[in-house]
Amino acid sequence: MSVLLRAAAGPPSAVARAVIPCLWRGKYFSSGKEPAEGSPVTPVLRHLIYKIKSTGPITVAEYMKEVLTNPAKGYYVYHDMLGEQGDFITSPEISQVFGELLGIWFISEWMATGKSAAFQLVELGPGRGTLMGDILRVFSQLGSVLKNCDISIHLVEVSQKLSEIQALTLTEQKVSLERNAGYPVYMKGVTKSGIPISWYRDLQDVPKGNSFYLAHEFFDVLPVHKFQKTPQGWREVLIDIDPQVSDKLRFVLAPCATPAEAFIQLDETRDHVEVCPDAGVIIQELSQRIALTGGGALIADYGHDGTKTDTLRGFCGHKLHDVLIAPGTADLTADVDFSYLRRMAQGKVASLGPVKQQMFLKNMGIDVRLKVLLDKSDEQSREQLLQQYDMLMNPKKMGERFNFFALLPHKRLHGKSQTNACQSKPSPSPVAGFGELAWR
Ligand code: SAH
Repeated sequence: MSVLLRAAAGPPSAVARAVIPCLWRGKYFSSGKEPAEGSPVTPVLRHLIYKIKSTGPITVAEYMKEVLTNPAKGYYVYHDMLGEQGDFITSPEISQVFGELLGIWFISEWMATGKSAAFQLVELGPGRGTLMGDILRVFSQLGSVLKNCDISIHLVEVSQKLSEIQALTLTEQKVSLERNAGYPVYMKGVTKSGIPISWYRDLQDVPKGNSFYLAHEFFDVLPVHKFQKTPQGWREVLIDIDPQVSDKLRFVLAPCATPAEAFIQLDETRDHVEVCPDAGVIIQELSQRIALTGGGALIADYGHDGTKTDTLRGFCGHKLHDVLIAPGTADLTADVDFSYLRRMAQGKVASLGPVKQQMFLKNMGIDVRLKVLLDKSDEQSREQLLQQYDMLMNPKKMGERFNFFALLPHKRLHGKSQTNACQSKPSPSPVAGFGELAWR
């Protein structure tokens, strides 16, 4: 526990984050049936209409991909959509405590797996870099623990706009950034605390080597295919031009089977499912890497364990938004199916969770950290800290909607790295967050 308390001694560096009544994205919402608030013809809509006219209706996955990450006009590419002025808010943007506890998770896992001489910390979809900034502050505070470890940071980000914000947050550009640093690295620099940092567009491009991976609210933006059960079997939901209204899109059902049906389980009992092949590819890549070189992955998102049906939804200006209206101006997201992620690990690594955010953060010692911050704060900051805590932990807010899931080498759970002095047999140390945090 002493290490946690030392980290907890750090300052309330960013107590004032978001003003609380922002909408977070993890709210269950049915797609495409809400009233339109005007429907401007956006450049993405024009592009999609042209595409559908030339080659026919497109899958929902293709639609999401074009809308979110089209290199010319995608929603994520040139937008800063996070925070009060943006479209949605995430846990790290609400409270510094969130990132600090995740920083402790990575150090705890690094210690439990034998304190390797070097590791890469890889984040998928780092947003504004706030989460990584909070993690790195903990790494600095625990500098004596990590002092002989060679750490590097690797960010996987498609957004030009957000990568610039990340660079500003993490490096303060004290050392000038190298842009076009040489394929596949598109930018590199050094963090405020002197750690080398590189940016990539794809996980495949990140060097293989002992790594810890982090993905917070990343899997939910990956494109999903949607399927409806019909008397003729599974039929994919497609997007077509509305024949009644020009410049308007609508959902239709494919007249016959489509290839992505292969991703549906044979014993599936739901009548509507969403499948995310891109998530499968990423989990397989992570699993192979972790099985080969050690480390681990921590994935946090809203989602379900193979039970929900229609979860695709849009967000714009902290309001739910019709997913087919003004594409490119709103975020699109679908709940993560953790049972699918577990299956895609294909037994190469062990998986833990999903556990609810409330339980994970409690196990990580959020109450200890909150108390330290409260003791150091004035009345106004105390009020804010309590509101932030409530937002993260309240089961009706983010506490039960968000889940934590981890991939770890099998040997981490089968106790080869720890021996309990009182027993002759090796005993596995509990994985922090998924069990109570225990420092040795
Ligand atoms: N993790 C951050 C941001 C979540 S928003 C937070 O919790 O605050 C999703 C992030 O994923 C953004 O940074 C977005 O630009 C990035 N992103 C979306 N699609 C991506 C893709 N296909 N590859 C890499 N990054 C992607």
